[in-house]
Amino acid sequence: MRDALLKLVACAHQAAAQCDKRLVDREHSAAMADLRATLDTINQGIVLVDATGTVQLCNARAAEFFRLPDGLIGQSLDLRRLTAELLEADFTVSGSGRTATLYRPGGDVFDLHIEPRADGGTTILVEDVTANFRREESLHLAESEYLSLFENAVCGIYRDKPDGTPLRANRALVAFNGYESEQQYRTAVKQSGGNWYVDPDRTKLFQHLLTTTGEVRDLVSEVYRHRTREKRWITENAWYVRNKAGVPIYIEGTIQDATERVEGLAAVEQQANTDQLTGAASRFHFLNTLNAITRDANGACVLFIVDLDKFKDVNDALGHGAGDAVLSTVAQRLRKLAGPAATVARLGGDEFAIITPGASASMQADMKCADIVRAMREPIEIEGHNAIVGASVGVAIFPAHAATTEELLNNADIALYHVKTNGRNNACIFDHAMKLRLQQHKALEADLRSAIPADALELYYQPIVAAKTGSVLGYEALMRWNHPRRGFLPPDQFIGIAEDAGLMTELGNWAIRRACQQAVALPGHISIAVNVSPSQFRSSGIVEQVKRALGDTGLNASRLVLEVTENVLMTSQSIATRVMDDLTALGVKLALDDFGTGYSSLSYLQRYAFSKVKIDRSFVAGIESKPANTAIIRAIIRLAADLGMDVVAEGIESEHQAALLRAEGCELLQGYLFGRPRPFVDICADLALHNLQTCMPQRPLGTLQDAPEERTVHKTL
Ligand code: C2E
Ligand code: MG
Ligand code: MG
Repeated sequence: MRDALLKLVACAHQAAAQCDKRLVDREHSAAMADLRATLDTINQGIVLVDATGTVQLCNARAAEFFRLPDGLIGQSLDLRRLTAELLEADFTVSGSGRTATLYRPGGDVFDLHIEPRADGGTTILVEDVTANFRREESLHLAESEYLSLFENAVCGIYRDKPDGTPLRANRALVAFNGYESEQQYRTAVKQSGGNWYVDPDRTKLFQHLLTTTGEVRDLVSEVYRHRTREKRWITENAWYVRNKAGVPIYIEGTIQDATERVEGLAAVEQQANTDQLTGAASRFHFLNTLNAITRDANGACVLFIVDLDKFKDVNDALGHGAGDAVLSTVAQRLRKLAGPAATVARLGGDEFAIITPGASASMQADMKCADIVRAMREPIEIEGHNAIVGASVGVAIFPAHAATTEELLNNADIALYHVKTNGRNNACIFDHAMKLRLQQHKALEADLRSAIPADALELYYQPIVAAKTGSVLGYEALMRWNHPRRGFLPPDQFIGIAEDAGLMTELGNWAIRRACQQAVALPGHISIAVNVSPSQFRSSGIVEQVKRALGDTGLNASRLVLEVTENVLMTSQSIATRVMDDLTALGVKLALDDFGTGYSSLSYLQRYAFSKVKIDRSFVAGIESKPANTAIIRAIIRLAADLGMDVVAEGIESEHQAALLRAEGCELLQGYLFGRPRPFVDICADLALHNLQTCMPQRPLGTLQDAPEERTVHKTL
């Protein structure tokens, strides 16, 4: 542009020179005027000065720029002074020699060009280059901004050739890969041959996304850091940069380290899916697994719900640490039993579940049940104690028993309930008749609530006899429920229901009171044993209840025996000791019932103030066939004798058993051989045969006339 202008100026200069010669030529001077007018319209300023310093030409733009007065032409111009003034005034200058760039403080920028001519004159050109200058300046700014962003970005940024050859990588990406310089990084990437993703299929996926959609958005992958080969998770975005023809010329992209996020998410997921205490699956994961099966048209599985029978006792007796250890061992055993395809979950508390997937699983359900029950019966050693928790297992099969997760769970629960109400420590597979029985059970529970007010409970009495003479020394009071429609029910048909319904304390207290009432009618040498359930024993008012029953009936406390099982001792030891001490202080005797089942710790005999121990009938039943039983019975009898305790052997049905026990020195015997449990009127009648004076009831008892007929014959009386 400047060269073109200089040419134009040269022409103008020539024309001006000629103009002088042909001053007379009017046409020519008109052309000159046109030329000047034209020069006034252009954006550049032009000043021509001849060798003498006289201004030959000065267009409007130049006059304006140099602030020269009109009519300058023909006057002399001190160019040196002019430029000096100009520069001093308000410009800063860069450049030197003939060309300079002038910056006006307001922001305008001018190029000044001073060109000496061959004729000794000078051509001065001045051009406003502000717009150009601004453009370049903002371009430069943008570029340096981009570079700053690129270099200082916290995420990795790169530009590659479409074949993957790295062109640029910012500091973050270089550092992410363990390098110090971009050069090191590029070399390493080229040498590694693109071996970056941990899962090699990821490369294909990346390329597929890029070629089909032109971009990759928020792709999360695991990669190797180039230098250390350490694994990291990243989130990446990438896109093609295309030329005007649409052909990709670069791949650009960003990479963010997502390791913490991914691992955090994995940890949260793992936490949600796992029961932290036992390592079994969580209830959440269990339900998801079950839902996936029940929603699948071809889904099939067996669901086992495993409920520990005596967990609460262990927890109460040995503390929460021991309880936790039991739960962990149980989970471990179940996992081992269930196999790798199954899901073992802890549903909460002491309830576990196993989902065995597949249609064939139902074929082995019976076997699995037996295995689970057996495994749960194995003792668990904790802090020197051998805890036997046992479990009840309810089973339902999908799709045979249910159409939905909810129904499947309900039905497994029904099967479990069935086991629990039938003595626990067993397994049961759901069948549709069970639902009906459950309804009956619920109805029974409702009936039981009104049993005491309706006076429908009764105590039956079973004799306890002296081994040597066969004479009756006492009776055990055993509860019966005279159900309005179902007749007399034994305790195993309602005690579990009463426990579940929270009615046991009320029932138990009733039994103590009634036994005391009736016992006063019996001869003074006869003791009465009453069973006390663990929940009744744990209830706060037991001592007060016993005291009141004795006080109200006038029974001598020494005639009352309270029978408790080892479960009672599994409550907090300090509570058990306090309650037992308080009861003993009343003068009541305590018997340890069913010894030989449960924990059977001989140390219980030493630690607590029992005056009797009752050897369980399951033990007595094996006495003829199992020599070990005899040895244990012998040990119990010896220890009891040393501790000054009486031993009662329960469940004696044969003379042979009685003879063996007598031979071992057992002094008290109880069992069908000597008499079944019978109504109070019956035993009164029996006693009357021997001593009418002493066995007549001394107080009127409301239920006497309602008692059923004697059903068994008392053998020894
Ligand atoms: P338990 O205290 O061990 O009572 C002995 C049980 O064994 C009684 O069963 C009795 O009928 C039965 N039995 C006695 N001799 C023989 C025998 O020779 N052979 C066989 N096969 N059985 C014999 P019952 O009356 O059905 O009572 C069962 C359990 O119910 C009792 O076991 C006791 O734990 C509980 N129970 C009974 N009455 C009460 C009560 O008033 N309160 C509480 N909490 N529990 C009670
Ligand atoms: Mg008993
Ligand atoms: Mg017993």
